[in-house]
Amino acid sequence: MPSKGLLIVLSGPSGVGKGTVRQALVESHAFDFKYSVSMTTRNPREGEVDGIDYYFSDKASFEAAIENGEMLEYAQYVDNYYGTPLKPVNDMLEQGHDVLLEIEVKGAMQVRDKIPEGAFIFLTPPDLSELKNRIVKRGTDDLDVIQKRMTKAKEEILMMESYDYAVVNDEVDLAVQKIKSIIDAEHVRVDRV
Ligand code: 5GP
Repeated sequence: MPSKGLLIVLSGPSGVGKGTVRQALVESHAFDFKYSVSMTTRNPREGEVDGIDYYFSDKASFEAAIENGEMLEYAQYVDNYYGTPLKPVNDMLEQGHDVLLEIEVKGAMQVRDKIPEGAFIFLTPPDLSELKNRIVKRGTDDLDVIQKRMTKAKEEILMMESYDYAVVNDEVDLAVQKIKSIIDAEHVRVDRV
C-alpha cells in the first residue's frame, strides 16, 4: 500500500501567473504530481479544452454537485462558480500521488479546514500594477471584469498570512525552484515519514 500523496494548494490572485507556474512545474519535471481539474460555470476561453483546463458546467449541474457533497471546495468568483471535485482528489492521494490544486483564496481556506496537512502556497505578484498589466495583457477580459478581478486581488492578498508559504512570482523559473524546495521539504517532514 503506497503512503498517501501530498496535497499541494497553489493559490493567489487572478493574473498572478498560477497557470504559468503550474505549466512550468510540469515541464521542469521538478517533481511528479497530478493536477486536479476544476469545475467551473464560466465560458471556455479560446483554446481551453473541456476536461483538461476545466470541466465546463452549467449552473444547475454545479449546484447539484454541491448539494450532493461532490465538491471538496467551491467558491463564487466574479459571477461564476469554481470548485474542486472531491473524488478524483481523494483517489489520487490514496494511490500515493501528490496532487496540485490551483484555486483562489476562499476555496483554499475550505481545503485547509478539511485537509490541514496539505502544503498551502500563496503565489504573490511583485506589485499590484504588475498584476493589472498581466490581466490586461492576457486580453481575455472586459474592462469591468478586469476591475472586479483587481478588487478581488486586493482582498486576496490580505489572506496571505493564512498560508504556509509565500512565493513571489517575479521570475517563473525562480518561483518553480522555490516551490520544488517547498515540496522536497514537505516530503521529509517528521509527521509525514
Ligand atoms: P480563471 O477564470 O482566471 O480561470 O479563474 C479565476 C480564479 O478562479 C483563479 O484565481 C483560479 O485560480 C480560481 N479557480 C480555478 N479553479 C478553481 C477551483 O476549483 N476552486 C476555486 N475555489 N477557485 C478556482
